Amino acid sequence: MKRFPSLPLLLVLPLLALGLSLSAQYPGWQQEADYTMDITMDAEPHQYSGIMELVYTNHSPDRLDRIPFHLFFNAFQPGSMMDVRSRNIVDPDRRVGDRIVNLPEDEWGWIRVHTARVGKTEAEFTTQGTIGWLDLPKALAPGKKVRIHLEWDAQVPRQVRRSGWMNAQGVEFSMTQWYPKACEYDHHGWHTNPYIGREFHGIWGDFDVTIHMPAAYMIGGTGVLQNPEDCGHGYGEGPTPTDGMIDWHFVAEDVIDFAWAADPDFVHKTLEVEGGPTLHFIHQADTSYGAWEELPAIAARAMQYYGEHVGPYPWEQYTVIEGGDGGMEYPMCTLVRGNRNLRSLVGVTAHEMAHAWFQGLLATNESLHEWMDEGFTSWVESEFLAEEFNESRDQPHYWAYGGYLNLVRDGGEEPLSTHADHYVTNRAYGTGAYSKGEVLLNQLAAVIGQEARDAGIRRYYDEWAFKHPGPIDFKRVMERESGLELDTYFQYMLNSTHHVDVAITAVRVTEDSTFIDLERMGKLPLPVDLHITAADGQVMDHHIPQVVTQGHRPLAKGEALLPVWPWTHPTYTVALAGSMPGCTVEVDAAKWTADADRSNNRVELSSGVLQEWRREGGNR
Ligand SMILES: [Zn+2]
Repeated sequence: MKRFPSLPLLLVLPLLALGLSLSAQYPGWQQEADYTMDITMDAEPHQYSGIMELVYTNHSPDRLDRIPFHLFFNAFQPGSMMDVRSRNIVDPDRRVGDRIVNLPEDEWGWIRVHTARVGKTEAEFTTQGTIGWLDLPKALAPGKKVRIHLEWDAQVPRQVRRSGWMNAQGVEFSMTQWYPKACEYDHHGWHTNPYIGREFHGIWGDFDVTIHMPAAYMIGGTGVLQNPEDCGHGYGEGPTPTDGMIDWHFVAEDVIDFAWAADPDFVHKTLEVEGGPTLHFIHQADTSYGAWEELPAIAARAMQYYGEHVGPYPWEQYTVIEGGDGGMEYPMCTLVRGNRNLRSLVGVTAHEMAHAWFQGLLATNESLHEWMDEGFTSWVESEFLAEEFNESRDQPHYWAYGGYLNLVRDGGEEPLSTHADHYVTNRAYGTGAYSKGEVLLNQLAAVIGQEARDAGIRRYYDEWAFKHPGPIDFKRVMERESGLELDTYFQYMLNSTHHVDVAITAVRVTEDSTFIDLERMGKLPLPVDLHITAADGQVMDHHIPQVVTQGHRPLAKGEALLPVWPWTHPTYTVALAGSMPGCTVEVDAAKWTADADRSNNRVELSSGVLQEWRREGGNR
């Protein structure tokens, strides 16, 4: 059952029903693609044939002459963009490297659309690499639907990256990015990124998929199985058919993609989450996989944690499937490498499951704004894991900060506004999208406060679920939640490679005062928190706001507010009444900011006498 209004309903509701939640980036429309697919697998040559009836609804204000489709499998051929890119990037992904160019022809991937009709009319379908263009015999007017019929043959590639047959642990079919998938068209236009192995963007729609599969195989995937009694393999009460084909019928509503996996050795168990979806766990029946016994209870807690901290999970099912490589998120399911210890299996599951929110139901264009998917997913994953394993509670995002700052120090950073496919190095993409994206969200608490940040995340869900938000939308939610102006924070974090580094350069203790000199060594201007511990152990907290936020985060009890530090001023002096010989002074003691050099954040005066301390080389 749908727990959200269906997309068409949302779209026909007048703006007043959506109220003030709409902001500049959301134009009030989005396309819809509803698929019915009939798939027949030929397991031995790793080929299949497909028939699709696609109802495509043009909610845009534009007339469309043609509709492009992703044909991802075509990436797995020598000379493809993914192949050449993988061999020429400075720091190749070891999972890909030169594996595509070395695939024998019977292990290539391909999709060949041989029949295309629009309504009853034959239509032209032309393929270039991983994108195919369907010419519409008649332009599709705004508000109109069109029924598209495609038939194709495909060869599943030997598993190189994500999809394919025979992954490293012997799962036979990881069927992801496997069918002609309509490209997204939004108020920014078409998004026909040729596939090179990175991020995705998709249209919400309903999927009705029937897969004819040799009886030996168990299937798990996106959607809810409609005929468990026919399928055996522990799904229904009935016996497992021993020969011939099983027709697996899945239905999924309001999803941006459909993925599945199949293997003869799969076993299957389920767990009902209290007040939430049914979790399915599907993996090979290998006794070394003990971690899979303990995973379900923890996965249920992750589902509940994300539901509380982001918003309710809207689909009735979620499935963790062994397959692919590493871990990869899909609607209502994930494929993960299965042979792992418990901590690793929980870590990957917690990450991929969190994508259900940021990839599946917020569904930002990941190619353009990879940090809003990978970064936010990583953030909530780290929060959950810290609670679940009761570890790194003082800084659950330790690894993200470390990874990001290593890149900053190496000078290898590229702006987060870079298109995911176009980073110069894999490392700058990965560290930017995952680690800096996680830092961006965590560090926001240094600007607006933890409470506003956390409430802002729930508000982001409430206002933007199923609407493809972009960076401005997210910024506006956080601005409305905090009452602060956040242009500068997002501009610097997204469009520059400037970082935070605030130094204490001098401390002077006189008979009746204490002076602390600060210098902004990194160009990213953030508010500064100053923590002072007097010789007698008394602690004092001070907050120095940035002028550009036009306000400051709520102060903690006992925390004192100091005058603003304009970003134009490289230095700042804190003048405190009272002599504090022997005090300890620390900037950002709570470690909210990704301060690139913490060695200059703390000064411990050596004795209880009046003195002047200056950092070497820091005597401005
Ligand atoms: Zn991810």
